[in-house]
Amino acid sequence: MPHSSIGQGYATLPSRFYARTQPTPVAAPRLIALNRALAGDLGLDADWLAGPDGLAMLAGNHMSQGMDPLATVYAGHQFGHFSPQLGDGRALLLGDVVDRHGLVHEIQLKGSGPTPYSRRGDGRAALGPVLREYLLSESMAALGIATTRALAAVATGERVYRETPLPGAIVARVARSHIRVGTVQFFAATQDEPGLRALADFAIARLYPQAALAEQPYVALLQGVVAAQAALVARWMLVGFIHGVMNTDNMAISGETIDYGPCAFMDTYNPATVFSFIDKRGRYAYTNQPTVALWNLTRLAEALLPLLAEEDTRAIDLAQQALAAFHPHFHAAYFSGMRAKLGLVGEQDEDETLFKTLLDLMEREKADMTNTFRALGHAGVLSGQDVAPTGLPASFGPWLARWRARVAQQGGADWAARAQAMVGVNPCYIPRNHKVEAMIKAAVEHEDYAPFHAMLHVLATPYVAQPGMEHFATPPGADEVVPYTYCGT
Ligand code: AMP
Ligand code: MG
Repeated sequence: MPHSSIGQGYATLPSRFYARTQPTPVAAPRLIALNRALAGDLGLDADWLAGPDGLAMLAGNHMSQGMDPLATVYAGHQFGHFSPQLGDGRALLLGDVVDRHGLVHEIQLKGSGPTPYSRRGDGRAALGPVLREYLLSESMAALGIATTRALAAVATGERVYRETPLPGAIVARVARSHIRVGTVQFFAATQDEPGLRALADFAIARLYPQAALAEQPYVALLQGVVAAQAALVARWMLVGFIHGVMNTDNMAISGETIDYGPCAFMDTYNPATVFSFIDKRGRYAYTNQPTVALWNLTRLAEALLPLLAEEDTRAIDLAQQALAAFHPHFHAAYFSGMRAKLGLVGEQDEDETLFKTLLDLMEREKADMTNTFRALGHAGVLSGQDVAPTGLPASFGPWLARWRARVAQQGGADWAARAQAMVGVNPCYIPRNHKVEAMIKAAVEHEDYAPFHAMLHVLATPYVAQPGMEHFATPPGADEVVPYTYCGT
């Protein structure tokens, strides 16, 4: 590939960390989407990627020079149950690239054929889940939330067999690192302390370089992951994102959102919302996400125990201290995000009650989460000139009065500027699930990618209202709601 700095850092780790595996070529690859902006940021030649050699690489039909594809091994708790060996069953790490800021990123193909970790799977991905991942991960990035990115999507020209035959596709994913909590768990579960140490050293060098300077680098690594995950989940909560399958093998220690399977954004505000069809007990419901994140981090801390201190009690003590920082980090990120969403400056004791009252009202009124926050950021609503602001039920009146009083205390009467700031943090467009499903249906059933490209374009600037695109900001009608999502694996 025409790039100055392609390499494969993960291959410098011991060979028991991965299996060198070539992708399985596909019959008739066709480029569905290429993320030219991302390619540019990564110093990749977008024209080359869009050409025959680039397509051959993105389809897994021909590996460019310097690429050393490998499937990584990991373990993981899936819905609370430990699987001692998972691994990249349908993904291959192609190599690293260095972006314009000098940061290393990994490029991975997902859906590129079987690997030694495929178990009973076919190593392939269906078009629908590939488009969902592409669109939702790019939407997250545009919202300013840490995430893996989508570099390209390729149709394979082959069928994959799920319950029915479906068109196959491959997504090229980019991440700072694909190391998961489950990767650390694999080396802990196999009691491979040298492996655990090598993995932690690699993670520190690549993701948490400041931890190397700390007195206890492995404790600092754990602290870094706790802080990154707390901030990430707070951001999810602020936009109504539901990951759907927060197993420990789907949680990246980099703090990037990873593994867009049954994920979705909620329309109507309801903390109990669950989309994933298989999540019958609501383990990964919207409101449980911070608790689950801490549960996963506790599994990470357990796995890291042998590195934290010589003595067990000391190691446990250090782990507990690191985990105790989750709640303060989460609350700081969540409350500062809420203050920004509501245009509040400074901190007041009653702010948390103000947030809670609003959320309770939204739940009771079955209000659309995104549009409620968006409506609050209109100067008329903010200043109290719109007595009955559009989009907000009349029952919001008393709350609006309290909120305006709180805003007024901040001083300054530049309502327009304040409203502008609110609009800049309350998105107009999220990938609404009924729209995502309609987009997938058009592509899968009619090979019509126009809805995919249109949605991708709108979601690229989610804070800017775009004329003619109102339907992307409209909640589903009663007959349009798509209540379930599927892993699609
Ligand atoms: P997920 O629930 O998608 O995070 O996947 C859990 C595990 O199953 C991971 O180890 C995946 O690599 C593996 N997996 C999922 N789908 C497939 C597939 N179609 N072929 C092989 N392995 C798969
Ligand atoms: Mg996964």
